Amino acid sequence: MIYQRSSALFAEAKKVIPGGVNSPVRAFNAVGGDPIFVKEAKGAYLYDEDGNRLIDYIASWGPMILGHAFEPVVKAVIEKAKKGTSFGMPTEIETQLAELAVSMVPNIDKIRFVNSGTEACMSAVRLARGFTGKDKIIKFAGCYHGHSDSFLIQAGSGAVTFGAPNSPGVTQGTAKDTLLAEYNDLASIQTLVKANKGAIAAIIIEPVAGNMGCIIPTDEFIQGLRTLCTQEDILLIFDEVMTGFRLGKGGAQEVLGIDADILTFGKVIGGGLPVGAFAARSEIMGHLAPEGPVYQAGTLSGNPLAMSAGLAMLSELNSKPEIFNSLAQKTEYLHQGFEKVLNAKGIPFQINRFGSMLSVHFTEEPVIDFASSAKGNNETFKKYFHGMLDKGIYLPPSAFESYFLNDALSYADLDETISALEGLSL
Ligand SMILES: *Cc1c(COP(=O)(O)O)cnc(C)c1O
Repeated sequence: MIYQRSSALFAEAKKVIPGGVNSPVRAFNAVGGDPIFVKEAKGAYLYDEDGNRLIDYIASWGPMILGHAFEPVVKAVIEKAKKGTSFGMPTEIETQLAELAVSMVPNIDKIRFVNSGTEACMSAVRLARGFTGKDKIIKFAGCYHGHSDSFLIQAGSGAVTFGAPNSPGVTQGTAKDTLLAEYNDLASIQTLVKANKGAIAAIIIEPVAGNMGCIIPTDEFIQGLRTLCTQEDILLIFDEVMTGFRLGKGGAQEVLGIDADILTFGKVIGGGLPVGAFAARSEIMGHLAPEGPVYQAGTLSGNPLAMSAGLAMLSELNSKPEIFNSLAQKTEYLHQGFEKVLNAKGIPFQINRFGSMLSVHFTEEPVIDFASSAKGNNETFKKYFHGMLDKGIYLPPSAFESYFLNDALSYADLDETISALEGLSL
């Protein structure tokens, strides 16, 4: 495939945008080479600036669950735009999307819309601190909750320890209030909770992780986490920015059968426009301004275009819940196809899958947390990524990212993807 124009556009972009991109993972740093510039997309296909057609497995990192340029969403946005794009005043459609979201998701009474998943998680933690009157939070190594200061903390080689910031610009003062635990390791949380008794406001987790590959929580881990939070008066925050409205109508809470105290959303809830949200029972949401003292605001929050896209998307998913099954079946089909091909090639690999999320890791060990995910062979991953790209298959350009299947993918597309893998020498 030829990527001449993409490379030229990237060179231009780098002159005026740091690294040529507005979000780092787009830059292909993990796999090398120049990123592909998209011109347009429809259904399961991306069309790039060189005229290549790519089968898309990232779906804008999740939102395009029904495929690109999904007709009802496009129509809703166009109609809304004609009537004005922002007012800074309340509109009826905000309530309509809120009512629909609250009806689909278990265990929430109220929802506040923001503009990104980052904002949602940042605000959820502030609310948890305001509600409990406690300062510290626990997060898990390898979980991503957006780029706000409190979350840019990583583990030192798997050690359960006080967080050290992993980005310049995050102060030690902020970092000391974020404690790190290991995913799927209940003992690592128990240790932290014991050592910080009465000081922990919340534990935030991706209930099915997607930012270190796709990692599935064990029942024992996720149930133990819930029990511990209840016992210790710690709020459990499920970051469902990825899993919400993707794993099922009610997200991870519904499929795992666990109630969280605060939920955060993003990605699918905006139908491809910038929307995030956080939600909880009234008792907790009542602490939020203007009802309560915890401040949170946004000039463009609840923006009518964004709300119209979200409403069209959630209405479709709500009225056709069989979509979630169809997506899971397609993902299973891809999983089985890949497994067969990779087994025949005789190279070590792990495939993790949950619903319509999947990831491929070139390692012999089961991938259950950040440390085991990081053991994947990145040289093989690079060959795999670029080999697939050359055959017109667009996968996440990092082994730490989950694939997000979209329902516009046909079985013919999946077969084409599996055949592409068959043709690779890894
Ligand atoms: C994408 C993501 C975020 C951040 O959302 P943005 O809209 O990119 O700010 C937060 N949490 C999880 C689990 C995510 O996948």
